[in-house]
Amino acid sequence: MNIAIVGAGIAGVATAYELAADGHAVTVFEQRNATAEEASFAPGGLLAPAGLDPWALPGAWGNAGWWGRQAPLRLGRAVTLNELSWLRRWRRNARAAQRAATAPAAWAELLQWARYSQACLLERTRQLDLAFEHGTGALVLLRSARDAAAGARLLRALRESGHTVHEVDADAARRIEPGLAPDLPLAAAWHLPDGMTGNCRQFALLLRQAAQRHGAQFEFGASIAQVQAHPPGVQVQGEAAVRRFDAVVLCTGAAAATLLRPLGLRLPLVALQGCTISAPLREALHGPQGVVSDAASGTSIARLGQRVRIAGGAELGCGAAAHPQTLHTLWRVLSECFPGAISHSAGVQVWRGARPMLPDGPPAVGASGVPGLWLNLGHGASGWALACGSARALADRIAGRTPALPMQALEPARLA
Ligand SMILES: Cc1cc2nc3c(=O)[nH]c(=O)nc-3n(C[C@H](O)[C@H](O)[C@H](O)COP(=O)(O)OP(=O)(O)OC[C@H]3O[C@@H](n4cnc5c(N)ncnc54)[C@H](O)[C@@H]3O)c2cc1C
Repeated sequence: MNIAIVGAGIAGVATAYELAADGHAVTVFEQRNATAEEASFAPGGLLAPAGLDPWALPGAWGNAGWWGRQAPLRLGRAVTLNELSWLRRWRRNARAAQRAATAPAAWAELLQWARYSQACLLERTRQLDLAFEHGTGALVLLRSARDAAAGARLLRALRESGHTVHEVDADAARRIEPGLAPDLPLAAAWHLPDGMTGNCRQFALLLRQAAQRHGAQFEFGASIAQVQAHPPGVQVQGEAAVRRFDAVVLCTGAAAATLLRPLGLRLPLVALQGCTISAPLREALHGPQGVVSDAASGTSIARLGQRVRIAGGAELGCGAAAHPQTLHTLWRVLSECFPGAISHSAGVQVWRGARPMLPDGPPAVGASGVPGLWLNLGHGASGWALACGSARALADRIAGRTPALPMQALEPARLA
């Protein structure tokens, strides 16, 4: 088939690779001048497992801490009605998940897809000999008994979906991550030996080259003005004619709404802003060895080669610049957990990006409802973790094959 992909973030590049490797003729249209310039530029390093981030699954860490004065969510004056409606749906889903006797089925499906996605990523890394910054091991810090209680249901869901999670005490946690501050209050921790940290943008750049070797074409600086159905096609901004394809795959992250609306499709998608700070490692033993997730602040701190990256915060309607409180929290948590890990002198990168979020957690991967138009977007807080698995699943669907796992929780139709 002759297939157009819109968007060259991690979702678009992974999709391009899988489709080109299956033998399709693939053209990727990207409005920016390079790969991974938007949400996939400098996200957190939490590559596995998905689900630890407080914004991965509504209700996974309870409701309490996320809406109070200390909450990482910041609502600014520019918040739109659409964003408020999304927030209401997210909170409704979070409350329902908390009230139910067992964790929602969607959690198990998402966590199983995350494991599958990690396996796909490891397979591609090995096959293609991709040299990108990555490491193993994840530790979840539970600073208080309250954190442990809030995460109890997520812990069960992780185990039920096949993840190995060891509950460890503070001393064991400090042996796993010797750089943790000795005075950091720690009730307990979860250790996930198969957890992974990794550099999303580096991986995307390498996978794009691999897709090109399979014949995929990338057109940069090509903004798609509209997508057409019957027959499928895309119109590049500034071109009069529509370019026809056998199928179009939208991997536009949070920007999908403007292309979908004229086709009569509405997705409850918002761009939930967050920040990362990346800084050079000052002393290897003082920094994280893998990825450390702090339940109390909803942040993750990852080792990426010779750098440390902390990620967190959630902002809606806060304008163009990061909220000062978001950055303050990131700096505070970094120095509380790993004092002396980073060098402040030079090379500190502060980045703000948007998680493309749907209100129930999982992404929209599959048929859009318009013949010939497919979606692989809305991966929220787990787009890096889910990229390789979602792309493989979509390529299987387009080829008429049965994907490796049930896809109900990912179906775009669930959001109608
Ligand atoms: C602060 C923060 C921390 C995060 N931490 C993690 C983490 O630790 N682990 C994890 O798994 N995930 C994390 N994420 C989430 C992850 O970054 C995203 O889910 C993922 O990058 C989304 O990838 P994408 O390809 O769907 O979107 P994007 O990377 O945004 O790509 C979409 C692309 O589509 C292009 N595009 C849009 N419209 C058009 C158009 N009309 N024409 C042409 N091109 C178009 C855009 O330019 C863009 O390049 C984090 C996100 C943030 C903001």
